[in-house]
Amino acid sequence: MKLLNTNSKVDPLKIKIIWNITKICAWDCEFCCVDAYHVSKTKNEICIKSKGLTMANRIPINGSTGQQYEIAKNFLVSQKMEIGLIDKLQILNNINLNSNIDFSGGDPLLLQENLAVIEKAAQKFGKENISLTATGIGFSLIDVDAVASLVGGVDFTYDFPKSENVPFRPNGYNHSNLSKVMKLASKGVSVTAQIPLSEKNISEDIIEKIFQDLHSAGVRKILLMRIFPVGRGSDMKFNYPSIKDYLTAIEKYKSLQSKYGFPVVNIQTGLKKTIELGNTSNEIYDSSHLNINQLGILSKSPWAFDKYGEPIPEFVIGDMKHNSLSDLLGITLKKDLNIMQNLRFLSNKAASFL
Ligand code: SF4
Repeated sequence: MKLLNTNSKVDPLKIKIIWNITKICAWDCEFCCVDAYHVSKTKNEICIKSKGLTMANRIPINGSTGQQYEIAKNFLVSQKMEIGLIDKLQILNNINLNSNIDFSGGDPLLLQENLAVIEKAAQKFGKENISLTATGIGFSLIDVDAVASLVGGVDFTYDFPKSENVPFRPNGYNHSNLSKVMKLASKGVSVTAQIPLSEKNISEDIIEKIFQDLHSAGVRKILLMRIFPVGRGSDMKFNYPSIKDYLTAIEKYKSLQSKYGFPVVNIQTGLKKTIELGNTSNEIYDSSHLNINQLGILSKSPWAFDKYGEPIPEFVIGDMKHNSLSDLLGITLKKDLNIMQNLRFLSNKAASFL
């Protein structure tokens, strides 16, 4: 699930972080950039798929109580594939610089304990600096009023207008996201539709339908994104749009914005950089955000993952469970100035904290 906070005001004094607080997900998208753990339930067992969906761990239910995602989490914590609430709270405590956090996943709303972390983050940094990226299944599990009081914005994905034969996603994924997220919008939460652009959704008629669906639902913001060939998408044979395709798609979205007024179109940093360089290379992971993964590892980009969703080693900064953000960034700056200079956040005054 991606993962960009598009709702905060630009504040040059803030570190922007995408925290993939869990990799547990109810969906199994083909090109999932974090290679999320797919959790499903039958009458007798819970099945957790990992390693590119090739490995299945089956947990007999045997009358055990509790919700399927909680049971899956307990198993994954025992396997050191996820961390528990105490570690998550320690990480939050270790975020000791003025920060803006987008909680993402997986689906962060599948686990009740993540709401406790989000609540404490909102107390620490202010609701306006906390956002959430989740899916329709997570949105359907929450107390809408409670979540609306904790976050300044919510992002969701809507990248195909039909329910059937959806490219790269399970059928029903987009419509579930859109229908459920609007419950939060009705409580005044700013919602943004993320649209990763692929060869399958950049024709004029598909763009028109996507835009109309979002406009009719009352969505006010769109984020156009590029797809990075990372996570489960690493091995996919994928025809990426050309620079000209991206520009044509952006122009089409902007013309629809001019015609209908909203949603307003924004462009992801990685896509902007791709166009600016005129290079669709797979090696460009530019982002305005740092990343914390489901184990608490801080890295320099929310896109630099290998095929199993592990952070690419040269992007890893350190372990947020045992170190403060200021210490990790201070050490990294001394060792690794060249790479860090490529990160947009260093061009702001956040570095002056270090
Ligand atoms: S919904 Fe997001 S996190 Fe879940 S499998 Fe799809 S891309 Fe991955």
